[in-house]
This record gives sequence, C-alpha cells and structure tokens, in this order.
Amino acid sequence: MSTLRFEALKETFNRVPVKVEELERRSAIFGRNVFNEAAMRQYLTKDSFESVMDAVENGSKIARGMADHISTGMKEWAISKGATHYTHWFQPLTGATAEKHDAFFETVGNGQTIEKFGGGQLVQQEPDASSFPNGGIRNTFEARGYTAWDPTSPAFIYGTTLCIPTVFVAYTGEALDYKTPLLRALQTIDTAATAVAKYFDKNVTKVYATLGWEQEYFLIDKALVAARPDLALAGRTLLGHSSAKGQQLDDHYFGSIPTRVLNYMRDLETECMYLGIPVKTRHNEVAPNQFELAPIFEETNLAVDHNSLLMDVMDKVADRHNFKVLFHEKPFKGVNGSGKHNNWSLATNTGVNLLGPGSTPMKNLQFLTFFINTLKAVNDYEELIRASIASASNDHRLGANEAPPAIISAFIGSQLTEVLDELEKVTNGKLSPQEKTDLKLNVVGKIPEILLDNTDRNRTSPFAFTGNKFELRAVGSKANCANPMTVLNAIVAKQLIDFKVKVDALIKSKKMKKDDAIFNVLREYIKDSKRIRFEGDGYGEAWEKEAKKRGLSNYKTTPEALKAKVSKKAIDLFIELGIMSKVEMEARYEIEVEEYALRIQIEGRILGDIARNHVIPTAIRYQNLLIENVQGLKAIYGAGFKKLASEQMALIEQISEHIAKINKGITDMINERKKANGIVDAEKRAIAYCDKVKPYFDEIRYHCDKLELLVDDEIWPLPKYRELLFTK
Ligand code: ADP
Ligand code: MG
Repeated sequence: MSTLRFEALKETFNRVPVKVEELERRSAIFGRNVFNEAAMRQYLTKDSFESVMDAVENGSKIARGMADHISTGMKEWAISKGATHYTHWFQPLTGATAEKHDAFFETVGNGQTIEKFGGGQLVQQEPDASSFPNGGIRNTFEARGYTAWDPTSPAFIYGTTLCIPTVFVAYTGEALDYKTPLLRALQTIDTAATAVAKYFDKNVTKVYATLGWEQEYFLIDKALVAARPDLALAGRTLLGHSSAKGQQLDDHYFGSIPTRVLNYMRDLETECMYLGIPVKTRHNEVAPNQFELAPIFEETNLAVDHNSLLMDVMDKVADRHNFKVLFHEKPFKGVNGSGKHNNWSLATNTGVNLLGPGSTPMKNLQFLTFFINTLKAVNDYEELIRASIASASNDHRLGANEAPPAIISAFIGSQLTEVLDELEKVTNGKLSPQEKTDLKLNVVGKIPEILLDNTDRNRTSPFAFTGNKFELRAVGSKANCANPMTVLNAIVAKQLIDFKVKVDALIKSKKMKKDDAIFNVLREYIKDSKRIRFEGDGYGEAWEKEAKKRGLSNYKTTPEALKAKVSKKAIDLFIELGIMSKVEMEARYEIEVEEYALRIQIEGRILGDIARNHVIPTAIRYQNLLIENVQGLKAIYGAGFKKLASEQMALIEQISEHIAKINKGITDMINERKKANGIVDAEKRAIAYCDKVKPYFDEIRYHCDKLELLVDDEIWPLPKYRELLFTK
C-alpha cells in the first residue's frame, strides 16, 4: 500500500471515538439558543413582543421605534447566553449560507466601551457582497445589496454569535437570495388557500405550507477524504473502481449504526436541540456509510432555514469527529446516491391538515379539493418543477435507475385513483340528490378508511402522495429546499386562485350550490391532469416511451431542464403572483447555467490533474517494475524468457494502452474546455460543457479504473472504494 494511503488509513483506524457527554433530557434543551416565544416574553416589553408576533402571524411591518426596543431585548438575551458577536444570516444564491460577524462591543471615547446593538443594526445591514452571484443585476463593483431582518424565522445563537435570519436584496429591489421569493410564494399560497379553505370552514384565516425534509448524506473519514483530491474539491469521486462488495447484500440499510457514527449523530442532535431544529429520526441508508436524518415538519420558511443551518452544523460537528460529510448527490459511482425528500402539505390556523382525509364527507371534499388542485398544478407546471431541482450534481441521480426519473409524474395509489375515476363521472351541471347521496356514501365518504391501508408506496415516483402529504423526492441532497418549495407553493397557489374563480362563476352564473360547483370544477381538473398520474415503475424504459406519448418532459441534463425557468409560461406565472420579476428570473437562470459550467469545468480540471499526476505516474512506476522483471528473466533464461514473461509483457502493453487513452482523453477534453471557455453566451457555454466536455469524464475514468485493477496495490496512491465505503 502506498505511504499516502497507508498513513490515511492508519490515522483512521487509530481514531478514538470522540466522547459525547450525556446531557440533560433533549426536551429540556430544545430551543435553548433560540430567541423564541418564551425568550421574547422574558426579554421584550409587552408592546414589542406583540409587534413581533403580529409580524410573524400576519406579516405586518415592525415600526422603527419598536425595532430599537426589540434589538435591546435581543441583545440582552444574547449576552446572557455568552454571545459576543452578531451577524445577519442569509442564503445567497451560492447555495451556502453567508454571515459577516460584528462585535456588540463598541468604544465610546475615554477608553470606555459598551455593548451596542440598535434597531438599525437589527433591521438592516450592508454586507460587502460584491462577490455573491447576482446574475448581472447588481454591478459587481458597486456591491449595493442589503440584508433585512426576517422576523418570521427566529434569531438564534450559534457558538458565540447571535444569528439573525435575513433576506438579501439589491438596492434596486431585486431578490439576491433564496429566501425572498420563497417568502413571497408562501404569502401567496396563504392567501389563495385560505380563500378556498373558507368554502369549508369560515374560521380559517391563515394557511401555512408545511415542509418536512429528509436529509441523506455520506460520512467518510477525514483522513481518507484528504487523500482524495476529487472528494476534497468536488465532493464526489471522479474515478475509482467499484468495490468487490458494495450494497448488493443490503446489509447496511437500517442496520445497527457504528459507534463512531452514533457518537457523531448524538453530538449533532444535541446541537440541533439547542438550535431548535426538531430532528427526530436517524438511520442507515442503502449504501455503506450513507445515513439519513429527518426532523418533525415545520412551517416551510423555518424548515428551509433549519435545513440550511443543519447542513452547516453537520459540517462543523463532523470535523470534531474527524469525519467529512458528503452532501453530493452521487459521491460514488455504482452506489446509491443521496436525495432530500421534501414532504409537503398545507395546514390551517385551525389545526387542519388540508391534505389529510377527514372523518366526514364534507371534510373529504375539502381534502379532495386541495389534493386535485395540487395534481392539476403539477400537471400544468411539471417542467418548472423539473427545473427547480436541476443541478450538475443531481443530474447523476435523476433517471439513473435508483432515484426518481427525470420525468415528473405523480403517484397517488390505487384507492385514490378509484375515487378520482368515480368523480370523473359526476354529472355535468347540477347533481341530483340521489347522485349526491351516492357520492357521499360511496366515494367521498370512504376516503379515510381506504387511505389507512394504502401502504403501497411507489419508491420510483418523484412526487408521491403518502397518506396525508405529498413527497417531492427528486430534490437533491445538496440543494437548498427554497428553490423547489418556491415553485411548488407558487404553482399550487396559482391553481387555487383559478379554481376559486371558476367555482364562484358557476355559483353566480349557473346558480349552482357550492358543492355542485366544486364537484363540477374538480371533475374537469381530474380529466385535464390525467397525464401526470403514473402508478407504474418509473425506472423502466416503457415509462419513458409512455411519458413521451403523454407529452411529459424528460430532460436528462441541467442545461436542458433549466430553460423552463425562463419560459414565457414561468415568467408570466411569477409576475402574475408577484413572486419574481422577469429580471430576477433571468438573473437566476444566468447564475444557474454559469454555475453548471463552472462545476463541470472544475471537475474536468480535477480529473485531468489526478489522472496525469497520480494515475499515470503510478502506472509507469509499476510498468517499470514489470520491465525490470522481464529484463531480469531475459538475463537469466535467455531466449526462454518469453514463456516466463508473457503475462508481464501483456501487462506492460496494456498499461501503455491505457496510459495512451487517458492522455488522449485529457488532451481532447482540455481542447473542448478551451473552446467552451471562448463562448460568451452563458447558456451556450453550459451546453458546450455538458455535451462536449463532460462525455470525456467517463472515457478517462474507464481507463484509470482499469489501471487501478492492474497496478500493484502497494503503490496505488488513492484510497479505494472499499476503503472509503467500508472504513467505519
Ligand atoms: P415515513 O414513513 O416515510 O418516514 P413519516 O410520516 O414519518 O413517513 O414522515 C416522513 C417525513 O414527512 C418527516 O420528515 C415528517 O416530518 C414529514 N411530514 C409528516 N407530515 C407532514 C406534513 N403534514 N407536512 C409536511 N411534512 C410532513
Ligand atoms: Mg421519504
């Protein structure tokens, strides 16, 4: 084994698990570092407390004078917890979270100092944000963006820093982050869903979109990652032959969690408790060294913040435990990838889950209304959903025979399919009393009992109804959930708005009763959205053909998929709902296509480096050994050496062939990169990277992996798959 690999493995094996202290009960520490309702009651005046709560619940503005009171209370609370700094915490379009720390501490002359944090500092800050991606909205050298407090997500303390969740906006008003459009979409669905929910219950005054994400990840020893430039820099292996044993035996899934990992998880969960992230479940995933963590669902804005925060915390805690977390969707070829299922539903202020079937026919009509409208929205905007989950890394997963396919479809189960089939038959116009009774007794009334035994869960569906929520499974493990959640909530909001207009029109012009009108509109929606429903195997080739017939999109690469983001349909939608302007949408599109090209470019460079600096030199060293051996045999045996050295000579030739192919692949790839870099248009550049540069990766990798199998294990410098995946 090479010294590099040996040292990395030795370090790994010598690790003593980091001890995790036994703490107080989880429930006792939950939210201790969050400026939550309890903390606010203690540290804020009655007026300022009420103004924050009013902002949270009703979206009202907080008066500037009030902000001074709030900041004082917040500061006192933070200092009592040992905080020395504060930061506006935000989610720029890089996908990571950003923060710039300022101390509370200020000098006031005469060598005197005080702890200061005014309303102005709470409400608005101007980070030096010139190098965050902005898609050309903001002139980069101007750096005129500001962060503004989002009171709907509570401030928290991480380490010794008070973190204030904020939006990040250009001075010209355009959103520069993920949170701003999400908040606008959530506002829109609140209004639209509340109006529809009022058909069924006048007491509903607010609807919250809920989100429960499930975070998958790999946990790999830090020393092994450090010895793999591809994992360290790109988060995935760009080469590496598969291990003799992989996941075929399924012996990792839900198996017992290794001690070192368990210690990490416990430490992580404790941190999450302090931060008010309600993590609940943890288990092994399908692949070796792959795990999952899921919280109790929350209101979507908070859930999105918590997921972003969690990913940061995971990185930091992993470092303490000498692990590296891999969030990449496909770190290992031929091994299960990672996703982030987004469980989504709508809940009313009266405590009703609008996607949960109820106990009476009327409640079930409400359920069906939201259920069918969601299907219709997904049917109409499937391309936009596909675009919202597109990334260079998720491309490895979608449609790769393990994750949902690149085709968006919805699974609802056989019982609900039957219900929709029945509803499709309802009379056009007013329903007879007999028909209504039948519907109530035999169709709508039956829903609760049937859903209970609806355990059939189609794992191949990208958007599945799972009893009382929809589960968007196509989201990548690395992604910020805000992107798909903005789209999903926006399209359902739009759908509900249209639905209400139609129902109201029928009530008014046709003098229909409310439920007759609702049945009539739902019937049409069921018909119109049939093509999105698919109950079969999403991995099969047959589905690809069928989906094509149905006119569903099947974009396998990010550059193709992203285009829907700037289609007329998408722009019209977001403008109509006031979620994003054309400029904002085009800017985002530009950022994403640029990011795509950059990611492929970086991977191409890393692969070129590893192949030329690690693989080829190692292969040559081994080849030299073989040559020496052959020469030695010749010296001893003379002409008879050929028989004795035939295997060695064949290897020498094979090695030369692989080296030649690798070299040619890299040279050709670099030429294509050069050409791509010369393309000014970002979209065309992304397409060139996708179609012209990326294809060389497989070719180069193939020959590197062959060499890995041929070359003496003792000199191979890179940790191998079996070491990365089976070292615990
Ligand atoms: P499973 O059997 O697939 O684990 P669970 O019901 O335990 O299903 O839920 C899985 C995820 O769904 C969890 O993260 C949970 O928080 C989330 N979830 C459950 N109900 C809702 C809901 N109404 N809205 C959003 N997410 C939900
Ligand atoms: Mg799930």
